[in-house]
Amino acid sequence: MKIFNTLTRQKEDFIPINPPFVGLYVCGPTVYGDPHLGHARPAITFDLFFRYLKHLDYKVRYVRNITDVGHLENDADEGEDKIAQKARTEQIEPMEVVQYYSDRYHKFMDELNVSKPSIEPRASGHIIEQLEVIEKIMNKGYAYESNGSVYFDVEKYNKENNYGMLSGRNVEEQFSTTRQLDGQSEKRNSYDFALWKKASPSHIMRWKSIYSDGFPGWHLECTAMSSKYLGNHFDIHGGGMDLMFPHHECEIAQSTVAHGQTPAKYWMHNNMITINGQKMGKSLNNFITLEQFWTGKHILLSKPFSPMTIRFFILQAHYRSTLDFSSEALEAAEKGFLRLSSGIENLKKIKPCSRSDFDVESFKNICYDALNDDLNSPILIAHLFDAVKTINSALAGTISLTEKDINELSQLMHLFTEDILGMVITKQTTDNSQIVGKLVELTLNLRQEAKNNKDWNTADKIRQQLNEIGIEIKDGKERVEWKI
Ligand code: ZN
Repeated sequence: MKIFNTLTRQKEDFIPINPPFVGLYVCGPTVYGDPHLGHARPAITFDLFFRYLKHLDYKVRYVRNITDVGHLENDADEGEDKIAQKARTEQIEPMEVVQYYSDRYHKFMDELNVSKPSIEPRASGHIIEQLEVIEKIMNKGYAYESNGSVYFDVEKYNKENNYGMLSGRNVEEQFSTTRQLDGQSEKRNSYDFALWKKASPSHIMRWKSIYSDGFPGWHLECTAMSSKYLGNHFDIHGGGMDLMFPHHECEIAQSTVAHGQTPAKYWMHNNMITINGQKMGKSLNNFITLEQFWTGKHILLSKPFSPMTIRFFILQAHYRSTLDFSSEALEAAEKGFLRLSSGIENLKKIKPCSRSDFDVESFKNICYDALNDDLNSPILIAHLFDAVKTINSALAGTISLTEKDINELSQLMHLFTEDILGMVITKQTTDNSQIVGKLVELTLNLRQEAKNNKDWNTADKIRQQLNEIGIEIKDGKERVEWKI
């Protein structure tokens, strides 16, 4: 299998450090708001990877954290803690905010059929581990204390290391221009990032340390928790592309100093979701929560969409491409998944023949090729749709399949669609399409009766009304064909 390593900017063969064990760390949500489309994409991307690795018989330890402290409003070191802010406005405990939105996150991830990680550690449960990392960085001389807070010395680090190796940013020239501007700050340089922040008197979430009563900086938790559960150098670190800088760059710097090596061998980043071509943001009023998708209650939504439609929509794009959401695109995904589901159901109805016009083995190979090429789910889905065409042709009797081929194809369709892509073929979807099929046949029989009675008026009326609800019929020599 080849995966694109953000660190080297190329596709590389995936070779685990200690096979068959694989350590996967993915930055999880900051739990202060209702889960939205932006939460669904990394969760589904790394769920696909997790499922595929397990299918390949790797023993995967998947760690996905919950950020419940230290993530400040502006994603840097200023402003209020996002969770504390929510707790203040709602007049509840910060841990009530954390519990409520963690539960909501889990509920929606379950509905999207995202597998649970092996370990889901919380930042607030690992303050001691985070203080230990600070101590190591302090002892090595790459951090300094300022007014009770502790900052990482980026300029010093960058002299012997490359701060910007992941994002490809050249920070050097920016050091000189930003240094003088920062006279008011506790930091020596605006690029320095907080390892520990002294809490203001009103700050609720605080812990004792030798530096001050305070709380850890946001980037520190992932270093402390990934090394605790996966070791100082593990296989894959993942997350959304928006986390590449500064979050992951800071993680690399912290690990390099504290543990003498970069945290992970491979870095994987999923691209962002845009809404009708625009970035998602609360201020743009295009922030659609997952609940709004389920209910359809948002101005940009034409109707409710099921979790499986959202999952299929996300998997129909490669994880490194931007994915533009629109109601039309979701409707197309919904129809597509219905077509795939009914295709899989149709397999049961095919009458086996003694010879076969379909090469199941090469179908299997191209499906694996797609996954092995940096998890190319859209290509895999295209192959599945091609197989559906074959299935439907076999059902119509225009091509032949042997019983063995039907069984093998059925196994493969279920394997790729359900086990690996994680799609749930709901009984309702297939039942409904079967019921629709039976209703159409029933109506066509009534039309035939009318024709037999030379009641052309009624026969025409039936054809016209079927047309109006989107069912096209074509009178053939032997039988009447129809399609939606
Ligand atoms: Zn992280």
